[in-house]
Amino acid sequence: MAAPDAALIDREALAFSLTDWWAGVGVVAEAHTSPAAPVSARVVPRETPRRGPASPDAAPRPARLDPSSPLEQARMLAAKADSLEDLRAALEGFTAMPLRATARRMVFADGNPLARILVVGEGPGREEDELGLPFVGPSGRLLDKMFAAIGLTRAENLYITNVVNWRPPGNRNPDTQELMLSRPFIARHVELHRPELVLAVGAIAASALLGTEEGITRLAGKLSPTVADFGGRPCFALLHPAYVLRRPQEKAACWKHMKALRAEVDARGLARVRTS
Ligand code: URA
Repeated sequence: MAAPDAALIDREALAFSLTDWWAGVGVVAEAHTSPAAPVSARVVPRETPRRGPASPDAAPRPARLDPSSPLEQARMLAAKADSLEDLRAALEGFTAMPLRATARRMVFADGNPLARILVVGEGPGREEDELGLPFVGPSGRLLDKMFAAIGLTRAENLYITNVVNWRPPGNRNPDTQELMLSRPFIARHVELHRPELVLAVGAIAASALLGTEEGITRLAGKLSPTVADFGGRPCFALLHPAYVLRRPQEKAACWKHMKALRAEVDARGLARVRTS
């Protein structure tokens, strides 16, 4: 697959993360490029004419959609999915994701789809890529133990997925383009699963779900609402088990967070599974 044009991706990323947001609050934002500043946003209040006098009966310009753009494909595929199985099939058919070139398998989800709690990690590692399941390597084994310590299991009360569905090569962090192309799918995944509590595992998941760049060590153990495209659902952040494996001195903090999580689960009656 030809590498997507970087300027196009930057404009799409900008539209996705910034100009769409401005549009939602009633402001027209336009991305433009110049050699000195590759991408920036010019924010113009809707009422202000930008080029020449506006014709009194000029129709509002429709949003420009390019169905051949990878982001539009992602959005259309995700929006069409009406069930978790549809969404899995939509992801299998999403050929524009560059990570497919290096990954072995797409990793969709594991656990109980009727669980009220959705666990969202960052993306598959080596073992996950081999088995096609999330959190089955060393960090997954620790995560299972962390949950077991507070009486939660993926067999019963947890449903587990990741922000990114294909392994980034060499376990590097997913880049901006990969996160952008994955976002319509994870947003739809959350919508279709309808969790009553989302657990953001690690910094990348917390940043995607909560829309903040605040450090994970400050966010972990606390409840905040997800951003609007994840439905504003309650979201509890946790330290990533890979981080805890690298820094055993974080175990005490991690245990404190798990106890706070159990209290939240009890207060909201989330250990019981749904019937449909
Ligand atoms: N780390 C993650 O964030 N997710 C996985 O599925 C595995 C490791």
